[in-house]
Amino acid sequence: MDFVVLDLEWNGAYSRRLGGFLNEIIEMGAARAGRAGAPPDTFQALVRPQVGKKISGKIQALTSITDEDLEGGLRFQQAVSRFAGWAGGAVVMTWGTSDILTLIDNYRYFRGDDRIPFLKRYVDLQAYCEQRLGRDPAQQTGLETAARLLGIDPASFSQHRALGDSLLELECFRRLYDPATLEPFIQDAERRGFYDRMEFRTTEICDLHHPLIRPADLSFCCDLCGRKARRVGRWQLRNKSFRAEFLCRHCGHRFCGRVQFKLKYEGMSVRKAILPSRREKKEKEAAQAAEKSGEEGA
Ligand SMILES: [Zn+2]
Repeated sequence: MDFVVLDLEWNGAYSRRLGGFLNEIIEMGAARAGRAGAPPDTFQALVRPQVGKKISGKIQALTSITDEDLEGGLRFQQAVSRFAGWAGGAVVMTWGTSDILTLIDNYRYFRGDDRIPFLKRYVDLQAYCEQRLGRDPAQQTGLETAARLLGIDPASFSQHRALGDSLLELECFRRLYDPATLEPFIQDAERRGFYDRMEFRTTEICDLHHPLIRPADLSFCCDLCGRKARRVGRWQLRNKSFRAEFLCRHCGHRFCGRVQFKLKYEGMSVRKAILPSRREKKEKEAAQAAEKSGEEGA
């Protein structure tokens, strides 16, 4: 299978047409996995901005790309058509979804197109590497961290430039690549729902009256005896999750039940956990303190 890793640099530019900001692509870099031992085939293009007049100081400091550099760049339309020719029908990979989402936005803005014509199959390389490295997907693993875990020195690549980053991402991919484990990560970009899924923003639900929350989601069983526990305190919202005190009338165990609701493209996801009771902890501490002062008094 033919794989290319695409990396983009962009600049936040205010667009009157949008009445808001567009992450305008200013550089495209890509690397193709070649034969073992052979140097990767690469693609690089600076893109002349059409919306932003100046690149921000922050982006300039991060990438060292200047306005003068971009004057000689290609227009977005030219850059993507060259990239499409170079990539052919390869599987396109990006580190996390923000690059591909930015490409979708730029296509929509400059070409009025809701689809990226050359995108046939797509892989979120960050998600794949996280799984292969056994990392928790909830705590996104940055490129540098992944590289270090694989014994790659990120400093030996020109970082925060599209081509250097794509080469570093490709190197991570090469070390972890295994056809069987990659298979489930390959998304068919021409299938219905691909763009909706990509652009769907997962949100935490912070209203207990949300129609998708079922009563069972708010009930907890005792983690000691397994029987249904009774809620003895009010639900409190903290860090986008709800928690309340529960009491098991069967064995007398008190605990804190925590539940978090996330609305994802696939539907509602409910995560529950049982934590030590805060009230019980406080009572224990108070009892210990009383005991201690009693001893001192004696
Ligand atoms: Zn119990």
